[in-house]
Amino acid sequence: MPHFPPDSVPDAAPQTTPARPASETLYDLLVIGAGPTGLSCAIEAQRAGLRVVLVDKGCVCNSLFHYPSHMTFFTTSELLEIGDIPFPSPNAKPTRNEALEYYRHVAAHYKLDVRQYQRVERVAGSNGNFSVHIVDRFGRQGILLARKLAISTGYYDLPNYMNIPGEELSKVHHYYDDPHPYFGTDVLIIGGKNSAAIAALELWRHGARVTLVHRGAEIHRHVKYWIKPDIENRIKNGEIAAYFDSSVTEIAPDSVTLEISDSRLVLPNDFVFAMTGYRPDFSFLESMGIRFEGADCLPICNPETLESNVPGIYLAGVIVAGSRTNEIFIENGRFHGRQIAQALMLSLAAHK
Ligand SMILES: Cc1cc2nc3c(=O)[nH]c(=O)nc-3n(C[C@H](O)[C@H](O)[C@H](O)COP(=O)(O)OP(=O)(O)OC[C@H]3O[C@@H](n4cnc5c(N)ncnc54)[C@H](O)[C@@H]3O)c2cc1C
Repeated sequence: MPHFPPDSVPDAAPQTTPARPASETLYDLLVIGAGPTGLSCAIEAQRAGLRVVLVDKGCVCNSLFHYPSHMTFFTTSELLEIGDIPFPSPNAKPTRNEALEYYRHVAAHYKLDVRQYQRVERVAGSNGNFSVHIVDRFGRQGILLARKLAISTGYYDLPNYMNIPGEELSKVHHYYDDPHPYFGTDVLIIGGKNSAAIAALELWRHGARVTLVHRGAEIHRHVKYWIKPDIENRIKNGEIAAYFDSSVTEIAPDSVTLEISDSRLVLPNDFVFAMTGYRPDFSFLESMGIRFEGADCLPICNPETLESNVPGIYLAGVIVAGSRTNEIFIENGRFHGRQIAQALMLSLAAHK
């Protein structure tokens, strides 16, 4: 992710000796990931009387914080609510900043124990007695102990790379943020779904010369009904150049090469936004013993309780749908917390 604070967690392999002693507290539930789903898991478990701690490698709602600065949600505010706290908004659809303020307010209201800037590196132990190995942004290590785990790590940290020459150049971005730096420049957008359409429109409206390349035959049919005609009309008017049934084969410092049918086209280019989607960190889940099924990498999990194939580890939010990241949103993932809390109550009562 491009915007970690400068002193964020390094990628270095964890040391074998924890710099800090293990906490003595045995939590009933440790939630990994303090996005909307993780917060809702913690709230529901806490309401059920459980002792809960949340851990996030970034800030509260770290993924939302890294969404485009001026974004507006597709969803009306009441469908983003968690913990029965109303989300009032003067807008038909709330902005990113309103959502961040709302979720901060909810976390404070429920006095959630959120450990920010603590990345979970590894989980050891088993049902009833898990050790969660964390590392903070200074590389210091620690351990938290919990009887049960809920994992709600989302999908926004790992872009789907195209694996083409030049993708590693600093002018290539997999996250779109703000249009201002791209005024008067040649920008290529790769993709044909919502994120690509929104970035193309916003960049064009702020003075960038925008070209869109999509391997499909047209703008994707799932693009929101208020965005689709806008992007299609800009393309029809020639305000945004677009190449469909096309792909990018190479990115160079001053140009991009496109493959259109059987021909090649080289365009001058300053910046590239590859809006090619994101995927959950399957290897993180796998490291805990979670198994997957089918081409969509659906994690094995009981649909009633959301307990995975590893007893005591529950899955929540978008990761439940594997690589089908367009199936679970905040809108529906926010109810996973209640499901997990109910299952936890039964399980913990049975083992008292
Ligand atoms: C641009 C955009 C617009 C969207 N608009 C909408 C909308 O209008 N309505 C809607 O319902 N949905 C929308 N979505 C989808 C929605 O935001 C996601 O489905 C939702 O955020 C998923 O929530 P989550 O809690 O499961 O995961 P996330 O919100 O991604 O939270 C996961 C958290 O886990 C943390 N984490 C990850 N790995 C670790 C680790 N190893 N250790 C510690 N912490 C970790 C991350 O830092 C993050 O804070 C949108 C998505 C995008 C990209």
